[in-house]
Amino acid sequence: MQDLSYWQRRAADLRPPCLAFINGRFVPAADRRTFTDTSPIHGRPLGEIARCGEADVELAARAARASFESGVWSRRHPRQRKAVLQKLAALIRQHGDELALLDCLDIGKPIADARHIDVPGAAGVFDWYAEAADKLYGEVAPGADDALALITREPLGVAAAVIPWNFPLDMAAWKLAPALMAGNSVILKPAEQSPLSALRLAQLAQEAGLPDGVLNVLPGYGDEVGRPLGLHPDVDCLSFTGSTEVGKAFLRYAADSNMKSVALECGGKSPNLVFDDCDLDAAARRAAFGIFFNQGQVCSANSRLLLQRSIQDAFLERLLREAAALQPGNPLDPATRSGCIVDARQADRIMEHIDQARRQGARLLCGGERLSIDGGDCYIRPTVFTDVRTDMALAREEVFGPVLAVIPFDTEAEAVAIANDSRYGLAASVWTRDLSRAHRVARRLRVGTVSINAVDALDPGLPFGGCKQSGFGRDLSLHAVDHYTHLKTTWVQWQDE
Ligand code: NAD
Repeated sequence: MQDLSYWQRRAADLRPPCLAFINGRFVPAADRRTFTDTSPIHGRPLGEIARCGEADVELAARAARASFESGVWSRRHPRQRKAVLQKLAALIRQHGDELALLDCLDIGKPIADARHIDVPGAAGVFDWYAEAADKLYGEVAPGADDALALITREPLGVAAAVIPWNFPLDMAAWKLAPALMAGNSVILKPAEQSPLSALRLAQLAQEAGLPDGVLNVLPGYGDEVGRPLGLHPDVDCLSFTGSTEVGKAFLRYAADSNMKSVALECGGKSPNLVFDDCDLDAAARRAAFGIFFNQGQVCSANSRLLLQRSIQDAFLERLLREAAALQPGNPLDPATRSGCIVDARQADRIMEHIDQARRQGARLLCGGERLSIDGGDCYIRPTVFTDVRTDMALAREEVFGPVLAVIPFDTEAEAVAIANDSRYGLAASVWTRDLSRAHRVARRLRVGTVSINAVDALDPGLPFGGCKQSGFGRDLSLHAVDHYTHLKTTWVQWQDE
């Protein structure tokens, strides 16, 4: 891994893409407006970014539709689509330092995480879907002797994706790879806090051989780009990752326009159930990772620690040691394991949650402070509250920051009831050596993913998503392809001789 001075030098030399990418060209917004993209690391501007609006959505939708109808991508042999996506994966790896740096500067995530987790993760997702491209077969239905019924999977047409800022490159990959593999043309809207890696990705996709118009990237604000995409009559499906409130808005946009299919990956308040028979050291280490990774800005963060009362003291002692080792530092320093919060507004919000938890009587065990580091003031120490009651806001609301709520329990039934007492249902972890208990509890948890003796099980081959107000639809795995395709039945009839 390169050292701090390498990354500082590269950051100083960086000329990030700032224009919108429409129909294979970088262009300014139709009305020439821009917004300033600022790094939370030092508060300095990274670039003046095209501030797209309705007119740009219209241009991108037309380009996407024209490319789809032309068949230049949608009707290519799957093996040709596979080759382009594999090339894109290779280019992501080749430009890994630059892509990692763009995300690190945009949102303040540690460069080591961006370089060694996010970049290989995005490349791996493109590779995974590329491999699947020529292995998805249709079906032949059993039926009469004088007919043949085929069931084929067809691309929907124009797919839109609206993504959040917490994993800019990876979220783009999660949406683009299955949508493109299936033959769609796509319009991607990155979050306003993190437009850079998506724009660079579009350039790399073009270099990999993706035809013009098949991928369009529109930077800008939610109500100015996300909303018109959600309402557009010629967008066939829309995949969203972000907050539950905005997810609900996309359901309304679809209802008020063309009934486009919508897949939603929304917020969470994921429980981590720790039973007294588990490996305490491993559970404490991973519990800290589960809440503090990416500064807690992870939709599936294990933000509720449900701890069996008999091991409370022994476990918390270990957990505090882990938290102490994760103190924030300059994200450009490869030794930093905990970076900064995405922006001052989000840091303010997190501090409000911390103040509220204090006022409501939760006991602060560590953290709770905001720090300034090297001229930036968006750092928050890993924070742990105990004595959290289930009716407190900290047990119910998503903080999206490095704040853990510890809730004690006595029995397995009580733990399951507390875990399920949430409007969210994204993920859960269970720590126990008792195999029966592991399966019993996993089956009763109303969530999309259960990790046993692990946190946040994640793999391109496994569906990721939630239930309840965490949304519906799945990213990753072949199940994600369902959202970007429809099933066509073709019935062929013949006459007996
Ligand atoms: P957000 O919902 O505010 O924004 C997400 C995206 O939606 C951004 O691109 C934004 O510009 C756009 N948007 C905002 N308002 C909009 C509107 N009115 N109409 C159309 N588009 C709009 O979320 P955020 O603050 O960027 O991200 C944090 C949230 O995302 C958290 O709640 C977190 O749990 C969730 N998240 C979920 C997952 C998941 O997979 N379930 C992953 C990452 C983040």
